[in-house]
Amino acid sequence: METISIIDSKDYVDQKVKIGVWLTNKRSSGKIAFLQLRDGTAYFQGVVVKSNVSEETFKLAKELKQETSMYVVGTIHEDTRSHFGYEIEIEDIEVVGKSENYPITPKEHGTDFLMDHRHLWLRSKRQFAVMKIRNEVIRATYEFFNKEGFIKLDAPILTGSAPEGTTELFHTEYFDKDAYLSQSGQLYEEAGAMAYGKVFSFGPTFRAEKSKTRRHLIEFWMIEPEMAFMHQEESLEIQERYIAYLVQNVLDHCDYELGILGRDRDVLKRYTELPYPRISYDEAIDLLKESGEFPDVKWGEDFGSPEETYLAEHFNKPVFVMNYPKAIKPFYMKPHPTRDDVVICADLLAPEGYGEIIGGSERSTDPEYLEEQIVKAGLNKDDYEWYLDLRRYGSVPHSGFGLGLERCITWLTGEDHIREAIPFPRLLNRIYP
Ligand code: ATP
Ligand code: MG
Repeated sequence: METISIIDSKDYVDQKVKIGVWLTNKRSSGKIAFLQLRDGTAYFQGVVVKSNVSEETFKLAKELKQETSMYVVGTIHEDTRSHFGYEIEIEDIEVVGKSENYPITPKEHGTDFLMDHRHLWLRSKRQFAVMKIRNEVIRATYEFFNKEGFIKLDAPILTGSAPEGTTELFHTEYFDKDAYLSQSGQLYEEAGAMAYGKVFSFGPTFRAEKSKTRRHLIEFWMIEPEMAFMHQEESLEIQERYIAYLVQNVLDHCDYELGILGRDRDVLKRYTELPYPRISYDEAIDLLKESGEFPDVKWGEDFGSPEETYLAEHFNKPVFVMNYPKAIKPFYMKPHPTRDDVVICADLLAPEGYGEIIGGSERSTDPEYLEEQIVKAGLNKDDYEWYLDLRRYGSVPHSGFGLGLERCITWLTGEDHIREAIPFPRLLNRIYP
């Protein structure tokens, strides 16, 4: 008899197997007990028929408590009524770890209560499905950039300076110096691109976001590719192919999980069709004005969540909004060749209300211009000497972008809140557990 995982049930129909499981729920009558089981690979049902098992086993099955861990021995059958498609007819149960008064019961709980029990809540079905999809997005990310000839180059997490100003930075001490937790690895990736051509980083970033939104975490993971000898147009093509690749791989490898979440596969399928529409910031402003829904919208301001939602819904697909006003973008973006009020950049807005998932730009190659912008932004020029060196020694056109992993996962899974897209979310009022 083999010990298997639930997910492998399809290969063991009518065979006797052993599986290590936890009990998630149970229902029983005088003659039969239905045990809802999980093992971290899938969820399915165990059936214990009184007339087929010993008296002790049936009694044990009826007394099992939620989240008890155990080995079950039995025969796999097809179960066409369930989403998973298989069940196990149990002959024997061996309890491994008992569980009394598991706090998360099948009844409804408030969000705060569930977040306080995140370490247990992760066992639940929706959370399982989201984490599996997160894992797939990470896997497909490495695969995509590897196929495209990128190398992963890790950026530091402790930094001595502040790439985009200090307001959202976490301060810490570095022996007798000041240090900050990274809020982006980009500047380091630019050094990487000049050294190795096409690079990407994938690591945690930290932003002391004071606003409480469904889209902002305090600690989140970012994928930041940077490409030498590349203008913005080519970067946009990589971005859309990357997103389509993620969507396609989630469709191909996470069908069971999408089913648990009730995510419409046809909607996702549409997001694999390229190219994504591209509009300028100016055109976006016009669209918002024409809609009549945004009477106060003004050229020069950044978009909030309602504006981003409107724009992406208008196209029913992810949309690139290009060339934002210089004044609302970071210092390193390349200025437009014929206009001095906008920069060569684009944000990718996801539909269905999820907003910006990528921010990217072509980078300025002009050391004098950059120096000027650094000073203008109130940053300390000495901190950026190394960055300016990248322009002094063999500078080339280069572009890059940053994808917020959890933003993207929230969108792909159709969850309401970004806290669901990371195992242990750090939020404005939460650093436990
Ligand atoms: P927003 O305007 O939504 O705050 P941003 O302009 O600050 O975004 P960037 O600095 O361009 O974002 O960061 C790149 C990407 O990182 C964003 O497109 C988004 O996907 C993600 N991101 C930014 N801030 C957060 C956050 N607080 N939590 C989760 N993801 C984030
Ligand atoms: Mg922000």
